[in-house]
Amino acid sequence: MPKSMIYSNEGTFFIENMPVKKLADDYGTPAYIYSRKIIDDTFTNFKKSFIKIDPLICFAVKANSNIAILNLLAKLGAGFDIVSGGELKRVISAKGDPKKLVFSGIGKSVEEIGLAISHNILAFNVESEGELHRIQSVAKSLNKKAAISIRVNPNVDAKTHPYISTGLKDNKFGVDENKAIELYLLAKSLDSVEIKGIDCHIGSQITEINPFIDSAKKLVALIDHLKTLDINIQHFDIGGGLGINYKEETPPSFLDYADAIDKVIGDRKLKIIVEPGRSLIGKAGVLLTSLEYIKEGHTKNFAIVDAAMNDLMRPSLYDAYHEIININNNQFAKKEYDIVGPVCETGDFFGKNRSLSIKNEDLLAVLDTGAYGMSMSSNYNSRPRAIEILVDNEKAHVIRERETFEHLISGESILP
Ligand SMILES: *Cc1c(COP(=O)(O)O)cnc(C)c1O
Repeated sequence: MPKSMIYSNEGTFFIENMPVKKLADDYGTPAYIYSRKIIDDTFTNFKKSFIKIDPLICFAVKANSNIAILNLLAKLGAGFDIVSGGELKRVISAKGDPKKLVFSGIGKSVEEIGLAISHNILAFNVESEGELHRIQSVAKSLNKKAAISIRVNPNVDAKTHPYISTGLKDNKFGVDENKAIELYLLAKSLDSVEIKGIDCHIGSQITEINPFIDSAKKLVALIDHLKTLDINIQHFDIGGGLGINYKEETPPSFLDYADAIDKVIGDRKLKIIVEPGRSLIGKAGVLLTSLEYIKEGHTKNFAIVDAAMNDLMRPSLYDAYHEIININNNQFAKKEYDIVGPVCETGDFFGKNRSLSIKNEDLLAVLDTGAYGMSMSSNYNSRPRAIEILVDNEKAHVIRERETFEHLISGESILP
């Protein structure tokens, strides 16, 4: 895996065969840039590493929901993990196969459930008893059978940021093992649901292997127990959550992850589903931003750029680290800066105390922003969203136009 999708050749920075500077000149900033080659290579590498298990790889749409990217992944054979009706419609627009969809999330509405059933999705990952009853009633009204898995919360510590930890007993996701057994017995008695699988997802940006092993062990024990109750689980959805290297993390490789899961599964005849988001797309995107002002103070220097927390929320939300590089090769002495955006919030920063050699109008790249970048963006401070561009060799394709003021107020009106 390359350290970054931007590389330098004789002092010029490139993404694939496209000079980064040219992208900024042609399309302006802020801009999200993705590399088709990194997307292809990462997916292919994932698939190869899991060859023994041959899982269905359901890309977590919330990590990056641009339909061009979903379409690339669909063409590589991916299914999708969705968490809303909007994401379902995105997958359809991207020509993804609804039969390779799993639907996660704790608050599925009647409309969303109906939409998913009418598209014959692979499975609902059911997160509560109330949801199971709702799926039964919607399926019955449509004269269909809905395929379900129960999402089990295995109570393991994913050792990640508390906001992205989902597998502890105090988290809002899934049900505990005893409740899961109860729900499977209930599901068995419902005539419009069909038990297909079991599911878990313990968190995101997980950089150790043990939480994955611990949770998989708990789930297979539960699968074995369910068998004694005459409940046959056909697929085991192990969730997503594998971390990437943003700074100094050393997450398990795809191969180590696959081997660990393979060992836990043993010779059980289970179809494996995996729901990676970040690990497939995080390294395939960067956010380009231009330096507007340098503001030097007694105790702090600020580099004010034209992108902001509304474009990339991870630093504000999780205190997340992203590497920031200067695309202009300045040779003068480095200084320490906080890299901040124009939004009126102290939390609007991309990096703190970064040592950089920068001047006004330089072009900066915030690295590893392919996952949970654009998909978490907002219009806060009435800022139009950034343009998205997919680089393919020496070509650039606009996959989402830069928003305009008209986008911002569309649907709003003043009283007559
Ligand atoms: C967010 C999420 C994922 C993807 O997580 P990553 O850390 O991006 O791999 C997978 N499954 C579910 C249920 C999720 O909520």
